Amino acid sequence: MPGGVNSPVRAFKNIGGNPIFFEKASGAYLYDADGNEYIDYIGSWGPMIMGHSHPKIVDAIKRQAELGTSYGAPTGIESDVASLIKKCVPSIEKIRMVNSGTEATMSSIRLARGYTNRDKIIKFDGCYHGHVDSLLIKAGSGVLTFGLPDSPGIPKDLAKHTLSCAFNNKEEFLKVFESVKDDLAAVIVEPIAGNMGFVPGDIDFLKLLREVTTANGSILIFDEVMSGFRVSLGGAQEVFGIVPDLTALGKVIGGGLPVGAFGGKQEIMDQLAPLGPIYQAGTLSGNPLAMAAGSALLNLIINENPYKGLESKAASLLSEMQNIMDSAGIPFSSSQIGGMFGFFFSETLPKNIDDVSKTDDDIFIKFLNACIGNGIYFAPSKYEAGFISTKHTDLEIEKTLTIIKKIINKGI
Ligand SMILES: *Cc1c(COP(=O)(O)O)cnc(C)c1O
Repeated sequence: MPGGVNSPVRAFKNIGGNPIFFEKASGAYLYDADGNEYIDYIGSWGPMIMGHSHPKIVDAIKRQAELGTSYGAPTGIESDVASLIKKCVPSIEKIRMVNSGTEATMSSIRLARGYTNRDKIIKFDGCYHGHVDSLLIKAGSGVLTFGLPDSPGIPKDLAKHTLSCAFNNKEEFLKVFESVKDDLAAVIVEPIAGNMGFVPGDIDFLKLLREVTTANGSILIFDEVMSGFRVSLGGAQEVFGIVPDLTALGKVIGGGLPVGAFGGKQEIMDQLAPLGPIYQAGTLSGNPLAMAAGSALLNLIINENPYKGLESKAASLLSEMQNIMDSAGIPFSSSQIGGMFGFFFSETLPKNIDDVSKTDDDIFIKFLNACIGNGIYFAPSKYEAGFISTKHTDLEIEKTLTIIKKIINKGI
């Protein structure tokens, strides 16, 4: 396997480390193949919002496995998941399940292009929308971590249809918009970005995207693969009160199994085959095992609505971290929404990818290595977000802070 991994960020190459191989997980904890225990602040990049190996989800998977793992045909459980999602995210009038977040954004883009009969896409620097050809232009996440903003292998003829501009910058967006508006199919954005570190969109910026796309007949796609069911039941669109045309989902909705979904206005979704001419398909789409896990997790979070609790837990972790860093004279800033958070080694919170790149790399790498060496599993890149689960109790937060205090007191 190239780099020893099946997804680049797992390699830890950028912090001078090696990939960690895990064997099991439970609640807030991960256990590696050498027997080390970690408090997990990645949560499989989002899905483990109720902790690892939740008994209800494990049971649901077991029960479904005995009934069959795939039929290549419709099942009632797909409709259950679709209804649960629709209930929480009202902008989704119709939905289609896929197998990953990448498929969800890829299919949303095709649908937007087919529906509008236009080619151009605007995205934002540092937002990551999966490894889709049209969207790997100035992308975030591993692409930033390894300094590969524009991957080789994407035809120039395709790349020229994607324009990328600065996140949270209204003036720059309007300038780019003016230059392509006649052929603009869609604007795609992470309304709460989690792939350039954790950088929420400004509400005014997001409102402008909504107004301008509506007036221009272009599709506004919210990529909520990460923020969906992570920041609140209704996602970032509920937090900001902005209604997109299409939404891409993934991560949480699969309960830890491979799932994605995209949905939105019925009029647009009805252009998909077999109702309309725009083609999209998948052998394992709506796979019953994945739907069983997703349905179990969605039911748990709908019952519990854990977002306020998650946010206040993250806030107390981060404000204590701030105190520790302040007394050591280390520049630090942080923020959180629901079960997502971020921290940066900088005095002020970054607003876009340029700000994030300027935050201190040297302290980040030393701090991260020390944390991981001491059983605190934070994301190994400043271009990734943090995630907290309902299984992170005061005990885990206290343990985390004790270790961080020790690391910082030793000198970094
Ligand atoms: C993770 C992610 C994707 C890609 O999802 P995969 O399941 O890894 O293909 C797309 N968009 C956002 C915002 C993501 O965080």
